[in-house]
Amino acid sequence: MSVVLEAIEAKKRGGTLPEEVIRDVVAGFTEGSVPDYQMSALLMAVFIRGMTYTETLALTRAMAESGETYSFPESVDKHSTGGVGDKVSLTSLPIVAACGAPVAKLSGRGLGTTGGTIDKLESIPGFSVGLSEERFRRQVDEIGLAIVEAGDLAPADKAIYALRDTTGTVDSLPLIGSSIVSKKAATGAGHLLYDVRRGSGAFMKTPEEARELARLLVHLSESMDIRASALITNMDTPLGGAVGNALEVRESARFLRGDPVPEDLAHEARAVAAKLLELKGEKGPHEAVEKALSSGAAYEKLERFVHAQGGGPDALENLPISDTIREVPAPRGGYATGVAALAVGRAALALGAGRKKKTDKIDPAAGVELLAKPGDRVETGDLIARLHGDREAEQAERLILEALEIGDEPPEPAPAILDDL
Ligand code: URA
Repeated sequence: MSVVLEAIEAKKRGGTLPEEVIRDVVAGFTEGSVPDYQMSALLMAVFIRGMTYTETLALTRAMAESGETYSFPESVDKHSTGGVGDKVSLTSLPIVAACGAPVAKLSGRGLGTTGGTIDKLESIPGFSVGLSEERFRRQVDEIGLAIVEAGDLAPADKAIYALRDTTGTVDSLPLIGSSIVSKKAATGAGHLLYDVRRGSGAFMKTPEEARELARLLVHLSESMDIRASALITNMDTPLGGAVGNALEVRESARFLRGDPVPEDLAHEARAVAAKLLELKGEKGPHEAVEKALSSGAAYEKLERFVHAQGGGPDALENLPISDTIREVPAPRGGYATGVAALAVGRAALALGAGRKKKTDKIDPAAGVELLAKPGDRVETGDLIARLHGDREAEQAERLILEALEIGDEPPEPAPAILDDL
């Protein structure tokens, strides 16, 4: 019997797989000797039967070591499980780098309603997300901040994720945990913060699910000698006011420049930056964050980083934001009691800011500017959103009206950070 068939037989009966078996199956699938149909059967057996911690760690290691690996033991990195308007990397990492903690980050592209940092950065004119390893290292040394597209790291995860996506096996805790940590371990940063999002616009819908994933991510990372912690953050409402690539870069630059932005974004960017500095051993992380912001050092770091990766001197002033605009008025007066992240994400997708499938071409200039956040008072006819872009604007307007709940009483304020592990 082949090793993969043995693994399927054992797992479907609830058995545990030895580390060598997991390693052989992952290696066989990556090189093509294990066919999709057998790997799919094994993934479904794992989905149904689960995996012990030891099995999950073995899978993480096997995927992390399936391709090239980098090593940046002094650097910090963060990972978000994804959300709508999530621009925490663009806002917190320049602060961290300005405080002297080097950031070496590999990021991905967006899919569906979940945006990706690489798409956001690519909306900056001239910005390159594909540096050679040598240039990436040099930039981390010289500027303290480099972000590139994850290329050949953890190829096993890439192949397995593609199969999970089409076989109903994405939402399995051991498969999600091993997938995320394998990529982070292959990137090699020594200090990692996980931003686990909970809510209607996130993978994890309940606080318990989010906490379970956060604990698993931290435990797997620590088993792989990475100093790690996690925050659980709210994704019932989009973060900040901008959803869409160039719009999100503009809002991030405004925050770092000291211009007003919605409070949830300002709070979360500061909290994530402070937590990353704490992981690096900084004694006064909150004071360091405030100093980097008030002195202008964080904004300067963003500018240097953008220029180092190909953006021209005025790149942040010349973001391609579509001037095809549709304005959405409030249908009635009252208080905004909720702005559903998932519906806003779908509106941005309809405008062209995201991809429905991996091969779709996005419009970097498209997206949604939300002008009403939960708690705001609106009168009938007040502008609640500006829609940028010329793809399905009518549908986007319908989705924004569906996303906005208006009530007669102001809602209880919802915290941006729900838990800290
Ligand atoms: N993100 C990942 O990288 N992998 C998963 O399995 C889910 C979310």
